[in-house]
Amino acid sequence: MWIALDGVGHPLDAPAGSAWEQDLPALRPLVDRGAALDATLGIAGQPQSGTGQCCWLTGQDAVRIMGEHFGPHPGPTLQRLLTRHSLPVRLTQAGARVALTNHYAPAFFEAQRRRARLGCFPFSFQAAGLPLNPSGLPLVSASLGLDYRAPWLEQTLSLTDVLTLGTALGRCARDWDLLVLDLWFSDLLGHAGRDPTPGEVTRAARSYLVRVDALLTGLLSSGAEVVLSSDHGNMENLRVKAHTLARVPLAASFTAVSGPGTVVHGGQWLSAWAGLPEADREG
Ligand SMILES: [Zn+2]
Repeated sequence: MWIALDGVGHPLDAPAGSAWEQDLPALRPLVDRGAALDATLGIAGQPQSGTGQCCWLTGQDAVRIMGEHFGPHPGPTLQRLLTRHSLPVRLTQAGARVALTNHYAPAFFEAQRRRARLGCFPFSFQAAGLPLNPSGLPLVSASLGLDYRAPWLEQTLSLTDVLTLGTALGRCARDWDLLVLDLWFSDLLGHAGRDPTPGEVTRAARSYLVRVDALLTGLLSSGAEVVLSSDHGNMENLRVKAHTLARVPLAASFTAVSGPGTVVHGGQWLSAWAGLPEADREG
């Protein structure tokens, strides 16, 4: 199971008082055993979701290919990269069973009909010929049960529900080669940051990490192998609205992670974990 956080910098690069500083009994030990990866790739500007997630999904330097940090949505160049080299595409071609376990609401599909603008994760799964909202799996809303609108209070799932969902997902994971969850809600909360940070933003960010912790607790209790990543910093610093230059976590439940230094290496590490040969380098 690959949990791809969006916009959560590593605790080592978070300011004092960040949402990382609370009791997260499954999440913190996992992240602390993992690596802190560079997301800037030596290019000026704030890392973005389009290029950042392409690095994770393909193991290729999407920032170098684009010449800049680009996003949030992949344009033609990144879409071409994802169509050729993304993990779901390569795994499907190799005959593996892979699924995106996000739940997409009807409003998402209505918005796509008006203007198709998929993020890197749903784009890659569609490029692999795989459905969004796959049947036979417990699907997970990216907010993990919080309201999508401020003040982002508990709405659809209690903390116990999130734990139960994690356990159910972990049981299903045995029948799949790779399950992926795109948790973009952290980036939405990060963009609500400002100085001084409103109390409701701080509370929502803390609450969200507690929910990630509960999901992870459920997954681990069912024996699933879990990898956790993030594309760039944002929510770890709620004093600013924008993405940050913070390093990002790569962590695995079954091993300490020490080799990878950047999100590109992180993507290569993921490919190797998934059992794929090293891909040809693009352009
Ligand atoms: Zn992002």
